[in-house]
Amino acid sequence: MEQYVVSARKYRPARFSDVVGQEHITVTLLNALKQHQLAHAFLFCGPRGVGKTTCARILAKIINCQSPTETNEACEQCSSCVSFNESTSFNIYELDAASNNSVDDIRQLIEQVRIPPQGGQFKVYIIDEVHMLSSQAFNAFLKTLEEPPSYAIFILATTERHKILPTILSRCQVFDFHRIPMDAIVGQLKKIVSDRGLQADEDSLHLIAQKADGGLRDALSLFDKMASFCNGNIELSAVLDQLNILDADFYFTLTDAMLAEDVATVMQTIQAIILKGFEGDTLLNGLGEHFRNVLVAKYPSTINMLEASENVKRKYLQQAQTTPSQFLLSALNLINEADQQYRMSKNKRLHTEMTLIRLCYLNSALQGAVSLDKKKNELSESTAPANAPIQTPNPTPAPAPAPVVSTPVSTINPIAASVTTNTENTSAASVTSTPANTPAVKPVTASVPATPTASTASAPASNPFSLKGMSREQLQKQAKEQLEQLKQQASAPDEKKPETIANTQETTNTVKVEETAVSNNGKPYTPAQRFDVLSKKYPDLINFTKILNLDVDW
Ligand SMILES: [Zn+2]
Repeated sequence: MEQYVVSARKYRPARFSDVVGQEHITVTLLNALKQHQLAHAFLFCGPRGVGKTTCARILAKIINCQSPTETNEACEQCSSCVSFNESTSFNIYELDAASNNSVDDIRQLIEQVRIPPQGGQFKVYIIDEVHMLSSQAFNAFLKTLEEPPSYAIFILATTERHKILPTILSRCQVFDFHRIPMDAIVGQLKKIVSDRGLQADEDSLHLIAQKADGGLRDALSLFDKMASFCNGNIELSAVLDQLNILDADFYFTLTDAMLAEDVATVMQTIQAIILKGFEGDTLLNGLGEHFRNVLVAKYPSTINMLEASENVKRKYLQQAQTTPSQFLLSALNLINEADQQYRMSKNKRLHTEMTLIRLCYLNSALQGAVSLDKKKNELSESTAPANAPIQTPNPTPAPAPAPVVSTPVSTINPIAASVTTNTENTSAASVTSTPANTPAVKPVTASVPATPTASTASAPASNPFSLKGMSREQLQKQAKEQLEQLKQQASAPDEKKPETIANTQETTNTVKVEETAVSNNGKPYTPAQRFDVLSKKYPDLINFTKILNLDVDW
């Protein structure tokens, strides 16, 4: 039986240029080698399987190589390189601190450090999982680490940097290894596929890389497992089954159904997922990750953050166009809450279903909230202008027309003039006195002019019926004179006599004329008579006088 070497060992990089996804470290180390400025202690931190030990070994090989290349890589041909590759070199010591964490183990190491290298220039000590050392062991190591012999180089490696004592950290040159990008892992897997003569579709390799979570060694282990399971032809369905990954198509289907409020499809999809053996929290977390990817795909500047195969990327971009951002943000919030409550839930399946059904109606709820806001805004906008006219005063009384008739009263003011012009221009007076003028009222205002008594003389100036300018005595005097004239004229028959009397009454306007009913064949002459007649004809007249607060007196 041919000896089988797993891919993680078979394809372990032998030079810095082959290391995947850690260029920021390999370039720094190569430059340090080139300038002969290599530190005596390094600390390599980072997640498992990203190349910490590999880089330490490559560095150990290069510094002992007898004829390094122009790019400062190891020649792979000299005796030192050959012994390194055969794992027979005496210049490299690897210590697993997880099982050798006591003070005695470190003391043995320190004893070894005192012995100079027999062949080659440097002795390299690689201490893996250095965070497992006890605090006494760390303290025993401090002195040697700070001032080692010129031929000794220490490379400490750990996955948990926060557990390393600060006294150790300050004595080392620290290098942080990154998670390997998914594209780099997929690229490496593709190389291995072609090298081993296998077949695999890109979606499968992406799933393997996704499951490995940035660790190349994990990815290679999974790849070996899948290559064996699929007998050399790696297929997506087999990968999904073997790696217990929920197919992304489920999430696309669920999202489409949620946007269409298709509860039945959502329930059926949940059933199918549970029948495949997945738990509700896996579904919720996967859906959250899916929504995050759709959100990332919505913006051109964040599309690069999407780690998926081209095929799946296209689907994300397509769904991002039909899914509103508001829905995605609210859905992520809901899923986060549901994830936190999942452990407390007694019926976990129902909890998952309820969460997904709520998501079905999320979009319409959001739209309802938006339309409600719009209506509120419209309402507030429409009420704002309506208030304005209320605040602004009603049309101000038109300027009183210039007195056409020169009245005997010389001290009349413009407001009073508007009343006195009733004699000649009643319509003008009616306009100024009754803003809400109507044809039916016109004759009333003409024939029943506001006849405020003397008491109204003290009315506000805004009242057009105020007769401020005339004193009571003046008006009475004028009225008496005119009345006398009329009585004299009455002795002679004259058709215009009654109207003249009335007009005179209007002119004086405030004077209470003590005259008996001057009737002519039953026709009304005095304002009181006219008002009676007209109020019978126009019942609104009484209301009108009340509304305008006219104090009619006769
Ligand atoms: Zn060499």
